[in-house]
Amino acid sequence: MEQSFPHSRDTQAVHAGRQDLRDLGVHAAPLDMSTTYPVGDLNEAAEQLDAFASGQLPAGTPIYSRLHNPTVGRFEDAMAQLESGDQGVAFASGMAALTAVFLALAPTHKHVVGVRPLYGGTDHLLSSGLLGCTVSWVEPHQVADAIQSDTGLIVLETPQNPTATLVDIHAVARQAGDIPILVDNTFATPVLQQPLLLGATLVVHSATKFIGGHGDAMGGVVVTSESWAARLRGVRIATGAVLHPFAAYQLHRGLATLPIRVRHMQSSAAELASRLDEHLAVAAVHHPSLLSTDRQDLVGEGRQMSGPGSMLSFELRGGFAAARTVLSELKIMTHAVSLGSTDTLAQHPASLTHRVVDEAGRESGGVNSSLVRISVGLESVEDLWADLSHALDMALLATENHAAPATINRATA
Ligand SMILES: *Cc1c(COP(=O)(O)O)cnc(C)c1O
Repeated sequence: MEQSFPHSRDTQAVHAGRQDLRDLGVHAAPLDMSTTYPVGDLNEAAEQLDAFASGQLPAGTPIYSRLHNPTVGRFEDAMAQLESGDQGVAFASGMAALTAVFLALAPTHKHVVGVRPLYGGTDHLLSSGLLGCTVSWVEPHQVADAIQSDTGLIVLETPQNPTATLVDIHAVARQAGDIPILVDNTFATPVLQQPLLLGATLVVHSATKFIGGHGDAMGGVVVTSESWAARLRGVRIATGAVLHPFAAYQLHRGLATLPIRVRHMQSSAAELASRLDEHLAVAAVHHPSLLSTDRQDLVGEGRQMSGPGSMLSFELRGGFAAARTVLSELKIMTHAVSLGSTDTLAQHPASLTHRVVDEAGRESGGVNSSLVRISVGLESVEDLWADLSHALDMALLATENHAAPATINRATA
């Protein structure tokens, strides 16, 4: 990486992975759609193939697009810079990225300590034992007690999906000893938090979310040390969950606007969180801008995050019925799973994203049936509040209408 002076993250977001464009005489990054590449000298190609298979990145022809793709490589370099890590390794989706990490664990170290809640898909992947892993689910302060002789990885998210609650990465790192920590940084993005600087070994993103930022490209990426990256590339070549070059092009393009999107969205999210906190239909609000969520001052003092992010959740006094009413009444916000897009997305985690988690796991992670999750987008915050407060009013009305006959029944019974 040729960088003669330190760049701010905003500048990196625009220029990372594009340093050679001027010399190439182009303005947009080239999109290389080749699946195969002409072989020159056969012996050289054979040696390159060996190097790729062992997870190295040899110079010269990529040989075949499952081994390496230059457009994907640009995106990986950009992510490595933004996350302050050695190397990035990109995958077809966030789940493919997580799968590669779990597959890369040594056969003798397949035990994983997981801090709940995690994204429903991650929770399911670990709980199912599909990849030969066993898992102990814990709260952040119980990590040390859960470590066994065969523990190979500690997995956490912060802010956590879907509750937006925070985990102190430093505090987990102090308990971890030399066991690697994986932090899923999808919610915070490298704009607000760089887990590798706080004691994590691996950072994972569902790039499908904020990184791409427009809801039209799926991908995942791991940023980590050179040696871990080599293992992950080895797994990727063997299993084939490569990122498509066109998606890599879109995700890389998304990075340029990531900082301004994140800052705009999080200021709207903080405003909505404080208004939600006052609404009669709402029992509790979770957003790192609120003291009730940021109990350890991880955002307030900037110890871990430089801002609260744009993911929030709230619980309705009227339970599941009220949550369903709110979601069905929304007109500007899109009732859909996923997050980090330009438009605001709202969903019911217990029914959708976290449906695959067993009920006990959902309850212990705070994913109850009254919880609604919102990914705040780029719309006007006043329009968003008008939409949301109308939906909340409707939920309140429905609860009252429902409650009234019950009161009468009780009086007459
Ligand atoms: C969406 C998501 C994933 C899974 O990523 P995909 O790109 O959908 O495979 C993993 N972690 C978190 C926190 C997510 O929100």
